[in-house]
Amino acid sequence: MKGPNPPQPDAILQTPKTRSDMYTPRWLLGQGSFKSGLCPLCPTLRWFRMKFSAYWYHMNFHHGISSHTFLPFPAPSAMRFNRYRGVKEALCPRCHQWVVASSSKNVAVKVQEIYWWKHAQKCFGKGDRAISN
Ligand SMILES: [Zn+2]
Ligand SMILES: [Zn+2]
Repeated sequence: MKGPNPPQPDAILQTPKTRSDMYTPRWLLGQGSFKSGLCPLCPTLRWFRMKFSAYWYHMNFHHGISSHTFLPFPAPSAMRFNRYRGVKEALCPRCHQWVVASSSKNVAVKVQEIYWWKHAQKCFGKGDRAISN
């Protein structure tokens, strides 16, 4: 049986860790510190180093996919605008705290959700291991 066509001739196929795994790269390239994973979600072929957290960072903070559960971070329970602080805030369903969900300085960020994801990454931590089904 032939597997799916590799995106590059020397790419190595990986098996997902769970059935709903959105995190693990399907394809790996290179070895050692050059080992890179193909982002399963970017519309174009984008490889990220597995070392130095490049892949980890991309998945967590560009796509909002948790490296703990291999699933998207949960959405905040609610959002509000804090006029006093001049920022958007998100209500965390786990710790029930309002966390800053936008930058107070008017800096353009590629992904607005990054502020929420940064909190969710820490708050929905190691206790939320992926459930293999
Ligand atoms: Zn991507
Ligand atoms: Zn929280």
